[in-house]
Amino acid sequence: MPDDEVPVLIVGGSLVGLTTAALLGHHGVPSLSVERHAGTAIHPRAGHFQLRTMELLRQLGLEDRVRTKSLETYSPTGGIIAVESLAGRELGVYVKELNEGVEGFSPTVRVFINQDALEPLLRERALELGATVVNRTEAVALEQDDDGVTVTLRDLDSGDEREFRARYVVAADGNRSPMRGRLGIGMRGYGQLSRSITIYFRADCAELLRDRNQGVMYVHNPELRGFFRLDRTGGNGFLVINTVGADVTQDSAIDVQSGLTEERALKFLRTAIGTDMPMEIVDVANWQAEANWAERLREGRVFLAGDAAHVVPPNGGFGGNTGVQDALNLAWKLAAVIKGDAGPALLDSYEAERLPLSRLTVQQAYTRYATRVVPERGTDGVEPPIPDIELEIGLVMRSEAILSENGDDGVLHLQPSALDGRPGTRAPHVVLTDGRSTLDLFGSQFVVLRLAGDAVDDWAPPGATSHVIEAEPFAEAYGLSAGGATLVRPDGVVAWRARGAAGRDELTRALATALAL
Ligand SMILES: Cc1cc2nc3c(=O)[nH]c(=O)nc-3n(C[C@H](O)[C@H](O)[C@H](O)COP(=O)(O)OP(=O)(O)OC[C@H]3O[C@@H](n4cnc5c(N)ncnc54)[C@H](O)[C@@H]3O)c2cc1C
Repeated sequence: MPDDEVPVLIVGGSLVGLTTAALLGHHGVPSLSVERHAGTAIHPRAGHFQLRTMELLRQLGLEDRVRTKSLETYSPTGGIIAVESLAGRELGVYVKELNEGVEGFSPTVRVFINQDALEPLLRERALELGATVVNRTEAVALEQDDDGVTVTLRDLDSGDEREFRARYVVAADGNRSPMRGRLGIGMRGYGQLSRSITIYFRADCAELLRDRNQGVMYVHNPELRGFFRLDRTGGNGFLVINTVGADVTQDSAIDVQSGLTEERALKFLRTAIGTDMPMEIVDVANWQAEANWAERLREGRVFLAGDAAHVVPPNGGFGGNTGVQDALNLAWKLAAVIKGDAGPALLDSYEAERLPLSRLTVQQAYTRYATRVVPERGTDGVEPPIPDIELEIGLVMRSEAILSENGDDGVLHLQPSALDGRPGTRAPHVVLTDGRSTLDLFGSQFVVLRLAGDAVDDWAPPGATSHVIEAEPFAEAYGLSAGGATLVRPDGVVAWRARGAAGRDELTRALATALAL
């Protein structure tokens, strides 16, 4: 391949761009990520990583590194509470303990790790897997034709421009997504919620934390509302401020940025800490809390992923996690089409499967913002909350590439107790006799799982591998009876299931449908 061509060009080398690059590399497809910043994230931003994200990192061989890194900064048992101030009264508990109630559903756990600690690990893994990442380079123009996309790249140091050819482009270029604008894709949703700030600071708050090993502490008092994330020493962290003043129904309350001086920032910090002590502001970042989703996720050969596809307020920790799931859904499809293993129509399933979930996630993040930060603004447009676990491992997808069963009820999320391996859901975690998880079987090829029994046929069509698994608890978890089989995609989603006996022809047809062949 000429050195100005690449199968996939990724615009953006942050959380989602790097995850996409690592996953493409895992599937054997080279990519080029271009990032205008000099390196990976400089601010902590995302900190709460969900089960499904950790499952993906496990698949990439990163779980241990991420868990070890996480412990350097956070307790593994933190929770999410609300306080008047760090020194003041405790007002409520949103999440008692990060991993409470999730045991048994996954081979991994939720973690708190800052984005600026996670991204270098992702970048390193992407490079190990053959991806190319270039910094201080901006994608400034893009033109598509029937065979590919021509992207103009500008070197931000020299100003030189050159054209690059790619078969597909992933726009992981963040919430303002210049690519989305260029493609004319609009946003839907709730608009701008507040002109928020994040104050990064150092102050010795250890004593105020007492025995509270919290990952996130919401602050509610007449002067401000937002949240703290402090490291386990209690000496470093940040304070997000979403609103100022006692009356949050006033529009001025949601503009924290206007008139901000260092003195005012210090006053906010002192109020939120609740007592005076030596404190140093390291940096202040301005950002807009929004709750919106892109009305389309694809224009020709260009796909939106991450914040480019959906922007949420940080409440609930959905932003980065949802973007990482976009990458998981898209990367194997791009790889399969590029390698000629799948038909190009498979790429239509990305929007069909992810867009309804993108909207659902934005609505749920808005619900958490509205109820935790500005409850006085009322419940207009606020959907009832769905438990986090359902949004992590209970989501249901539909597309031409998923063979839904008769009587599909159309629901988008299920309680863990209702998850039984139905097509369109994440294939359940079951511990195998060798101690591994069923999830450890997924990630590369399609996998056929069969229930062990008399004369069970362990045949798999070309392009898939087969595993025969002992009855309990696999049969119940996957909704199978004697002779039953299930077909799991490389992203760990069930594409098809035959609850009872299934023949080779049926399986072959199911795989062809799942690959749009
Ligand atoms: C205070 C705060 C707390 C948060 N907490 C959480 C949390 O707990 N959990 C969670 O999951 N999420 C959280 N988030 C959200 C999370 O940070 C984002 O969802 C995540 O960064 C999105 O990743 P991304 O790669 O899609 O976009 P970004 O991180 O915005 O990266 C886009 C990248 O594209 C680059 N770029 C843009 N245009 C171009 C171009 N033309 N050429 C080259 N490069 C370009 C940009 O420089 C940027 O680096 C939080 C956010 C904030 C602000």
